[in-house]
Amino acid sequence: MISSLLIANRGEIAVRVIRTCREMGIRTVAVYSTADKNSLHVSLADKAICIGPPASRDSYLHIHNIISAALTTHCDAIHPGVGFLSENDIFAQEVQNAGLIFIGAEPETIRLLGNKVEARGLAEKYGIPTVPGTKSAVTPGPEALKEAEAIGYPVIIKAAAGGGGRGMRIVRSSEELVENLNIATHEAATNFADGTIYIEKYLESPRHVEVQVVADKDRVVCLGERDCSVQRNHQKLLEESPSTATTPEMREGMNKAAQTLFASLGYLGAGTIEFLVEGDNFYFMEINARVQVEHPVSEMVTNTDIIRQQIIAACGGAMEFPQGVTEIPQQGYALECRVNALTPGKVTFFEPPLGQFVRTDTFLYSGAYVSPHYDSMVAKIIVWAPTRQEGIARMVRSLRELKVEGIKTNVDEQLAIMTSSEFRSGNFGTDVYGRLKKSAKI
Ligand code: ADP
Repeated sequence: MISSLLIANRGEIAVRVIRTCREMGIRTVAVYSTADKNSLHVSLADKAICIGPPASRDSYLHIHNIISAALTTHCDAIHPGVGFLSENDIFAQEVQNAGLIFIGAEPETIRLLGNKVEARGLAEKYGIPTVPGTKSAVTPGPEALKEAEAIGYPVIIKAAAGGGGRGMRIVRSSEELVENLNIATHEAATNFADGTIYIEKYLESPRHVEVQVVADKDRVVCLGERDCSVQRNHQKLLEESPSTATTPEMREGMNKAAQTLFASLGYLGAGTIEFLVEGDNFYFMEINARVQVEHPVSEMVTNTDIIRQQIIAACGGAMEFPQGVTEIPQQGYALECRVNALTPGKVTFFEPPLGQFVRTDTFLYSGAYVSPHYDSMVAKIIVWAPTRQEGIARMVRSLRELKVEGIKTNVDEQLAIMTSSEFRSGNFGTDVYGRLKKSAKI
């Protein structure tokens, strides 16, 4: 095992990784930009190194500075967290070249999965259903039109290298397609440094269901599914496990797909396979080769520290599940609400909700500063309960108890979602946020 780890990230995920390392007896090194000098991850870590000015490209995305920080502080490994460099194959390779362990997938795996066209190809190779779409990248022109006609409108144009809910355009006719193909190619080239695009059938109201996986050199373990259908602009707002849309047969099918793909990749550590679900059918969408923001809901229903197992597996060790087990059944129900800052600024007062089966992952404290330079998510409230109904009640109680003063947050909106009959029914798709907004319920 390693004795010292650098966390190449900030905010709640850096705090999350530091906490597990503490429990494992691993010394932690934080990195920070000048904007984060007083941030919680800096004070919690055993050591902290400033790696640059506020702009991410000069600090949290600065590969050379991060690796130098790890080497000068005698670290054995680097954890990339989520976002920033977590799915950057060049970073993973450079970390390995420096003689350090990268707590994540192999560079070649990250590269392959980072290209959604290649990832779809991999799924198809193993007979896993994908959303109907083009077999390969498309270029603007008559061929693309023909392909879209064959798929049937509406379709969605996606950037092969897209991510984070960005790089997608829904089109409903051939005229719209012609208008959007060039724009999408251009946008993809500008935003993701790769202009490759492809076309998929656009499903109007699917569920987003994903399976959490952790794998070591001997086995792939599935930790059940999460439902992430409540989204704003294709970005997740809350996540729950189990999904109300998943039948035992579907779960079996999705787990089998996860087992097959992760085993074929020789994957080590934590990853997620994402599906769109329509009726009884599920379609492979992509694999995220990293730990995800919403991993705590799976931790709650399977009683697992995913970061701990990820570190053990990435260091070549054997995960701590009972021998022979490849599926951990979900127990009870867990729900996570993301708390996003709507304005930057100083948090004058902060108090997290407490009580039975309530967990708050955050970097906030009274006096903390929310910088405009970074992601707006400032906290995650996660609850566990025996049933969905009790879980929602516990979340409502927790959101009401949470105190964040000095900045505006989306807590009122999350509460409105929690109390809506649409969410409570459990019967909704990825268009639910838009529908709630339209009917002025949120
Ligand atoms: P990202 O990598 O940006 O997260 P994903 O491919 O995971 O992108 O898609 C994000 C979300 O976009 C999905 O959860 C879903 O709501 C929507 N989406 C993606 N593809 C489709 C599709 N073919 N039909 C309908 N919605 C889609």
